[in-house]
Amino acid sequence: MDAANPRALPAMHRLLSAPEAVLLAARHPRPALAAALRAELDALRRSGRGFTAASFFAAAEAALEAAARPGLRRVINATGVVLHTNLGRAPLPAAALAAIAAEVGGYCNLELDLEAGARGDRHAACAALLAELTGAEAGLVVNNGAAAMLLALSALAAGGEAVVSRGELVEIGGGFRIPEVIRQGGARLAEVGTTNRTRLADYAAAIGPETRLLLRVHQSNYRITGFTAAPDPAALAALAHAHGLLAVEDLGSGALLDLTRLGLPREPTLTGSIAAGFDLVVASGDKLLGGPQAGLILGRREVVGRLARHPLMRALRPDKLTLAALEAVLRLYRDPEGVVAAVPALAMLVMPREAVAARAMRLAALLPPGAAELVEGESLVGGGSLPGVALPTCLLALPGPAEALAARLRAGRPAVVGRIGGGRLLLDPRTVAEAEVETLAEAVRAALAA
Ligand SMILES: *Cc1c(COP(=O)(O)O)cnc(C)c1O
Repeated sequence: MDAANPRALPAMHRLLSAPEAVLLAARHPRPALAAALRAELDALRRSGRGFTAASFFAAAEAALEAAARPGLRRVINATGVVLHTNLGRAPLPAAALAAIAAEVGGYCNLELDLEAGARGDRHAACAALLAELTGAEAGLVVNNGAAAMLLALSALAAGGEAVVSRGELVEIGGGFRIPEVIRQGGARLAEVGTTNRTRLADYAAAIGPETRLLLRVHQSNYRITGFTAAPDPAALAALAHAHGLLAVEDLGSGALLDLTRLGLPREPTLTGSIAAGFDLVVASGDKLLGGPQAGLILGRREVVGRLARHPLMRALRPDKLTLAALEAVLRLYRDPEGVVAAVPALAMLVMPREAVAARAMRLAALLPPGAAELVEGESLVGGGSLPGVALPTCLLALPGPAEALAARLRAGRPAVVGRIGGGRLLLDPRTVAEAEVETLAEAVRAALAA
């Protein structure tokens, strides 16, 4: 079956018993192999090209390999965007991965109280940690921050009004808009103030018989600077309570650590919001917390209980993988000294430019001499967190047509994603793990040589 014969194409049964096919059958399911051979035959027939065993089976093998690759696969993030939503936001700490593998991959006590031998609460472990770490009375976890907001509004404001400042009617991305989520939660939006200035008196004037809660939304992904005003959070919470209303905050990024301790700009923390007197605070688990996608809910026991008992809770509840990872991440925060090194997203955020430069040089040394140029640049926090914060970094600029190089790197295994600037492909080692440097160098060498 090796002679090129432009006319007759071999029959399927002959193809399937060819030595090349027998080798492929050892690595791929027979139905997939048969389908790939049939597809190649069809392609040959359409093209009118002749049959050559070598190229025929090579094409079939390439198609089989492509089909066997997981759809969701590993990427080396060389963009320098630490919380890159398209790349899965926060890389999980080793402790979270270990918890998934060791504790919950098989059966686990998700809803079984092992001591009492009775039905347990899937939220118990994370809720206790959230309370311990923030000073909140109670906690709850849902699938993401958007779900937490939807649940909070549905449980606390349906049929009534939620008062929000015009400076906080944000769109987060992926179509999540505060006015729309309020409507979806069955509540009406009462806008107060202006884009740049909203005073406590504006909130007070908007309170009426229909008002259920005062909602504060963190301006996660943008900043209004200049002539601005917003009430002190504690004063806002006190105003709500003076009128028998709830004070709710969507904190977005949900930092647990005081970021100024790490040399980053001040970012409101979960602990700060609880201390300010908010009855309920919601945030994401995979932004500045550095954990899995999750919606964190914390606050007063009675208020969190209303969310837990709401029918939507059943639709928004997280699975055991999320809860195991989140619990492990929250445990890391019990050690304020060790947490930065243990949570990759935090470690990347605090990495000094010199350390990034050292990694860039190590990477450059693994490439052909002169292939890459080191240039200064900036990394971003991403994920709608800390907008306007640029972290000084050291980039590797690669020669050649940037788009084509980027496409070759994306097609690799593992895929590599960089960014294009000034017509060149740039790699930012800040978001590349130390253990990935050699793999990345290998991928770049292959892409440059192709
Ligand atoms: C990110 C964000 C959300 C949405 O959280 P997800 O976890 O992405 O669903 C909601 N509100 C604010 C203020 C945010 O920053």
